[in-house]
Formats: sequence, C-alpha cells, structure tokens
Amino acid sequence: MERSLLSDVERELGVRGADEPAADAAATVARLRATFTTGRTRPTAWRRRQLRALRALLTEQAPALTDALAADLGKSPVETHTSELGFVVNEIDHTLRHLERWLRPRRVPVPMALLPARARTVRDPLGVVLVISPWNYPVMLGLAPLVGALAAGNCALLKPSELAPATSAALARLLPRYLDPDAVAVVEGAAAQTTALLEQRFDHILYTGNGTVGRIVMAAAARHLTPVTLELGGKCPVLVEPGTDLAAAARRIAWGKFLNAGQSCTAPDHVLALGGTAEPLARHLADAITSMYGTDPARSPDYGRIIDDRHFDRLTALLGDGRVVTGGAHDRATRYLAPTVLADVDPAAPVMSEEIFGPILPVLSLPDLDAAIAFFNARAKPLALYAFTPHRETRRRLLGETSSGAVGFGLPNAHLTVPGLPFGGVGASGFGSYHGHYSVETFSHAKAVLDKPLSPDTMRAAYPPFTAAKERLLRRLL
Ligand code: NAD
Repeated sequence: MERSLLSDVERELGVRGADEPAADAAATVARLRATFTTGRTRPTAWRRRQLRALRALLTEQAPALTDALAADLGKSPVETHTSELGFVVNEIDHTLRHLERWLRPRRVPVPMALLPARARTVRDPLGVVLVISPWNYPVMLGLAPLVGALAAGNCALLKPSELAPATSAALARLLPRYLDPDAVAVVEGAAAQTTALLEQRFDHILYTGNGTVGRIVMAAAARHLTPVTLELGGKCPVLVEPGTDLAAAARRIAWGKFLNAGQSCTAPDHVLALGGTAEPLARHLADAITSMYGTDPARSPDYGRIIDDRHFDRLTALLGDGRVVTGGAHDRATRYLAPTVLADVDPAAPVMSEEIFGPILPVLSLPDLDAAIAFFNARAKPLALYAFTPHRETRRRLLGETSSGAVGFGLPNAHLTVPGLPFGGVGASGFGSYHGHYSVETFSHAKAVLDKPLSPDTMRAAYPPFTAAKERLLRRLL
C-alpha cells in the first residue's frame, strides 16, 4: 500500500523508481491482453480500419517523421520516403488488397478412412505480440511488423530503439493518436525497459537487431514458451565475375552500400572480386561515389551520418584494415564518415570478421567462383548474398551451393521491396520471416479443424473390442 502510494507520488513528480519499468510493462501488457480477450481485434473490419489509420499517419505526419529521421540519422527526405514511409505505405496497400484472401480458411483433403468429413485450416490471431526494433530504419522496422501483427488480428506493443530518440518519441506520440490505443502501445526506452517487457508473457516476439541481444530475447521468450522471429544481421557479400559491366555493377553496389551511410542490414558488407576484377572495380566504385555524392560527400544533402559516437569510433578503427582507395575522411563532431573503399584487405582483419554496418567497403580479390563459394561457406550465413555475373551457370551454382536469407542477382537490398517475397535470415542472420502474407503467417496460428458428422457413425470399426474383421478393414484403410 505504502509502496504503491509512493509510486503514485513518484509518477506525479516524473521520478522513475527502479521497479517502475516492470510495473509499467505489466500494466501495459495487461491492458492489451484485456482488449484482445474482448475479441475486438478479430473482425477483418477492425484490422482494415487500423491499417488505414496507420496509412493516414504515414501520409499526414510525413513531415514530422521526416524531421525525426533527419535528426537521428541525417536521412534525406527522398531516402526517408523510399526506404521508410513509402515502404510501409506499400506494405499496407499490398496487405489491404490481399487480406481477405490470406485469411480465407483453406480446405484440405480428408483421408478416406475419415470420410464423410471436412478439414480446413483457419488463421487464428496469436494475442499480444511484441515488436522490438532497431535504430537504422526506425520507422520501417517498427511499423512493417506492426502491419502484419494488426492484419493478423493481434494487439501489439512496439519498443522502438533508444538510439533513434527523435523517431522513437514521434512514434510514441503519434501511434496512440491514430490507432486503437487499447490495442496498440509504444514503450520507449533502452535495455532496462526492454528487459522489463521481456519478463512479461507475449504470444509472439519479433526482434530486429544484433545477435547478442537476439540471444537475450530468445532466452527470455523461452521462459514463457513464446515463439520468436529473429531478424539479425551478418556480412552480406557481393560477388563480381569477369565479363560483368563493372561500371554498372559499381553503381548498383555503391547505391546499396552507401544508402543510410551503410547502416542497412542488407547492405553489401564486402566485395569478392573474381579473376582480376578488383582493381578496375575499385576505380569504378570511386567514380560511382563521386557521381552520387560529389567530391565532398560531407556536403551532400543525400548522404547520412553515423548513428552515435560508439559506432563512429568502432567504424573509424576499421579504416586501418586496408589501403584506402577512396574516402576515409571523417569528423567525430558531426559523425561524418565518407563513403570508403578499402583494397588489399587481410581476410582475417577485424573489418572482415565483424559486420561492418557503416560506409566502409572492402574489396577482396579471389581467383574464381570455387574460391568464392569456399570463402562464403566457411563463414556465418548472412541475410543476403549478391552477385554480378553474366553466367547462368554461376547463378545456378550459387543458388545450389550456398545458404543465405536471400539472393540478389544484379541488385542489392531491393529484394525486400518485393511484397511477395519473405524477408528473413537463416542461421546466424536469424529465423522466421515477414512481409506481406508471410507476416500474417508469422503473427497467426494455422488452426487445424476437422469437422465430421456424428451420423453415419463410420468410426465403428475403430472402436474396441477389435475383431478379425475390424482389423482387416483397418489395415486396408490405414
Ligand atoms: P539497437 O541497438 O537499436 O538494438 C535493437 C533493440 O534491442 C533496441 O530496441 C534496443 O533497445 C534493444 N536492446 C538493446 N540492448 C538490449 C538488452 N540488453 N536487452 C534487451 N533489449 C535490448 O540496434 P542494433 O542491434 O545495433 O541494430 C543493428 C543490428 O541489427 C545489425 O546487426 C543489423 O544487421 C541488424 N539488423 C537486422 C535487420 C533485419 O531485418 N534482419 C534490420 C536492421 C538491422
């Protein structure tokens, strides 16, 4: 009693007690669970209303979100539209277009032994789902999973990243204004708040971020037997084969790499240049960087900044792991790190062992495809593998002899904008997937339903006592 009075006073005064995140988390989840229990989120009409409201938020509040992303990441308005707001709007439109079809019960054939009967799967919402998102695409990676969670008829709690504070605050302010506030909640904060949330029971957790925290999330989820989707990172390689138009490939690689200043989970991490292509490719990459961001990218309105000092220091420490072909300039005060290409990199150097997640692109030279496949298969499975090759046989071999979350031939990153493709990793890059109907599958349960009339009672042969005649019949049927 005394404790709760004290907590009320502390709350009034804005003082955050040590046990407050846990109490807040429990109360928020209880509120969402109470809403789910009423059945309010189940009708398709409610789901469609939420999706349309989220769409309205993204269009009406685009200026506020664009400002927040500029403050957090120096993101240009065009990049914000294409890779954050517009992306989620497309995801909503695709979902609204197909939702009824995705939710339709699916009839499946019934074995003869059970006839007459009907069998089908129905898509059941899971309940209350938790979405934990990172800082690099704080709108897209928070709201795209939310689209799936709502489309599948769930209540949802979003925990945005504290490293993108302006966007986190904007989402916390705006989402309850547009969406059903008893069905969708935003909890801001860092590890303490997330830890408090993870003590609660959720019906699914979708976490996007690094693998270390992914393990924490999975261990916490195990206590409640909560299923998880882990969207992690990795080192996505780009293979370049001789015979490729190197200038065109360099433009595509530079675009995919230096978007969001290299802070994209699907960004090319490094290049494996085969058969003597490394030198000319590095030159073309330097040209592509100049054509996109000018001779001084620090002055380009289209080039982003590193999220915080810790990542800036981590990245600049990697610059010494090779010969700088272009770039290398940096300024800690503005967290600017130029688009950088490194050559003569030792495959054992730190830049080749940790995920770079910034605007540094090592170009390694390998003799041929066999060497590239061996190099790739000796490392953890990444979110994507990219290849620039004129040879159909190379594509066939890469698809058949390597494992990654996705494969992109001729273009990095863009596979995730194809709404019909699943987005997710494999092995160290995570498990489970979402986007489009994969989101609805992730956030719902395919409930198996068998419906058999009581009469006629065709089950008589299965009831004991078993006679020789019943046994003969059962053995013929099963
Ligand atoms: P981050 O630091 O924002 O962390 C992600 C989330 O985990 C945040 O919400 C944060 O508050 C929470 N968190 C941090 N420490 C925690 C702890 N101890 N306990 C509980 N929760 C905690 O983001 P990040 O991890 O730096 O993100 C970058 C990584 O994410 C990269 O590896 C990148 O490849 C990966 N990523 C993957 C995808 C994908 O879709 N697969 C997308 C983007 C980023």
